[in-house]
Amino acid sequence: MTLPGWKELPEGAVVREPGNTVTISTGEWRVFKPVIIDEKCTRCRLCWIYCPDGTIIEVDDPNAPLGKRYEVDYEHCKGCGICWKECPVNAIEWVPEER
Ligand code: SF4
Ligand code: SF4
Repeated sequence: MTLPGWKELPEGAVVREPGNTVTISTGEWRVFKPVIIDEKCTRCRLCWIYCPDGTIIEVDDPNAPLGKRYEVDYEHCKGCGICWKECPVNAIEWVPEER
């Protein structure tokens, strides 16, 4: 049996336009979700840095400490848990997703 060469394989999982996943809800398969407890947050930004999907959003808020607060974009958060693991002050809770 002769296997096809790589040039004969059908295309799959091709991202043709950079950034096009912004229009796709990638949060639908999440089982757990991060919830940021603003009162505990020290604004260290580690969750924002480590999130592989850029779904921790830094929001300008003049009423918040250091003028910033952090939110989760639940349309695109995949629930990987990295932000929860990396937060040095346990300001992120890890809760079951409810739909
Ligand atoms: S759970 Fe993962 S994808 Fe969601 S905000 Fe945290 S690091 Fe980003
Ligand atoms: S890692 Fe924790 S303390 Fe740091 S900005 Fe994120 S939620 Fe706040």
